[in-house]
Amino acid sequence: MAIDATQPYDDDNIFAKILRGEIPNQTVYENDHALAFHDINPQAPHHILVIPKGRYVSWDDFSANATESEIVGFVHAVGHVARSAGMVEPGYRLLANVGKDGHQEVPHLHVHIFAGKPLGPMLLKG
Ligand code: AMP
Repeated sequence: MAIDATQPYDDDNIFAKILRGEIPNQTVYENDHALAFHDINPQAPHHILVIPKGRYVSWDDFSANATESEIVGFVHAVGHVARSAGMVEPGYRLLANVGKDGHQEVPHLHVHIFAGKPLGPMLLKG
């Protein structure tokens, strides 16, 4: 079910529970402002999610309201994870779904990192 990117932050969302340690995750990397872990339902040979530790619903919320240190920490985490996994030379894809038309399902900002095979065209037509 896609969410409304303008909704208030929901502390019961699944990624908030992961950040509080209430449900397990396969952590790849962590810094002061971000956590990276394997997607539970991978859509490519490598599929990692990077989330900010702060309470941000979406990319829109984060880009408007996060502090500079949160933004720097988050962006560094995404690049670090891809480099550390050896994704740079073969290439990889970043994706952040936002709101209903973006088909965002979890109301806590997450950037998907996909890699491990040629990923094809950016979007399906139609
Ligand atoms: P999105 O459609 O962009 O909101 O993507 C949500 C992503 O979260 C999907 O790729 C799910 O497979 C993933 N996901 C949902 N629950 C978990 C979980 N407990 N651990 C890891 N990934 C999850």
